[in-house]
Amino acid sequence: MFELESVIRKNIMALLPYSSARDEFSGQAELFLDANESPFGSLNRYPDPYQCELKNKLATQRNLDEKMIFVGNGSDEVIDLLYRIFCEPKRDKALTFTPTYGMYDVSAGINDVELLKVPLTDDFDIDIETTKALLGAEQIKLTFICSPNNPTGNVFCQQKIETILQTSTGIVVIDEAYIDFSSTKSLVGLIDRYPNLVVLQTMSKARGLAAARVGFAFAARPIIELLNKVKPPYNVSLLNQQAALDALNNETDYCRNLQEILAEKETLYNFLEGLSSVQEVFPSAANFLLVRFNDADLIYQRLIKRKIIVRNRNTLIRNCIRITVGSSTENQLLMNELKQLENEKSIVY
Ligand code: PMP
Repeated sequence: MFELESVIRKNIMALLPYSSARDEFSGQAELFLDANESPFGSLNRYPDPYQCELKNKLATQRNLDEKMIFVGNGSDEVIDLLYRIFCEPKRDKALTFTPTYGMYDVSAGINDVELLKVPLTDDFDIDIETTKALLGAEQIKLTFICSPNNPTGNVFCQQKIETILQTSTGIVVIDEAYIDFSSTKSLVGLIDRYPNLVVLQTMSKARGLAAARVGFAFAARPIIELLNKVKPPYNVSLLNQQAALDALNNETDYCRNLQEILAEKETLYNFLEGLSSVQEVFPSAANFLLVRFNDADLIYQRLIKRKIIVRNRNTLIRNCIRITVGSSTENQLLMNELKQLENEKSIVY
């Protein structure tokens, strides 16, 4: 049984949050002399601490309540805030399914929280029996499920995710950074049914704003209120809020770019499947492909020599490299190089 009060750290529950000038007065006025800003310049005023315009746009687009949205300085900020709100350092535990996105582990380390790792099965699926047993035996405050998963590219089935949501007495975070590229729909719609669900999304991938650092958490209102309580007062800059708003207003570019990336992914997939240096290209619901080569380290080094950088995941998944789908020109460059390498005797098996 999930009870929010019992999973919040006591000090966070008791915390008196910082009250910014904009918390004390948030209406329109003739003259603002309450935040020690400079009267000069165009970026001289603090940004809206609650990003109301951005949330309003997103809420309208997604048919959501604005109070169910938190905006972070990238979703990485939200991951860290969740540890800080829910996990008592040195005592509480978190859980994830490996291999997966590295920041769940790094943020756990920073917050001095033990992260339990359930290995994915050989076909990159969640071992639900092991997971249920762990959730029953351990005090797990946070569970991270990355779907589509980075770096394996697959989506986990909703039924398994719901079993975890039902079994866990803690918060379950579904990281949907790559959901736009997937034909599976977001689980944001489950928030009304699960008070322990947090869904993460980001402007960094399909929306093309990795440099701007804007990520979202969607959850029931009490969880959003906690995130607002602990966040730095002005965590998303005015420039970044504006960039995110502009991107959300530009559905045409978003749809066109998304279609192009999906088409390019297919081209790259078919090309890679035909290489004799490749053992397997894993199906991907994201904007990257996980590829098992005969010798990943060798391919990785050869590509570096040609100034093409991919992500060598050999230490996580044997002989695997993660390749981001680029533009048509970028992918062509990569394919040309791989074709050339293929002709070099040492790489053909
Ligand atoms: N989640 C996943 C699964 C990711 O792969 C990444 C970035 N690589 C992030 C979150 C971080 O996103 P952001 O840029 O919004 O911090």
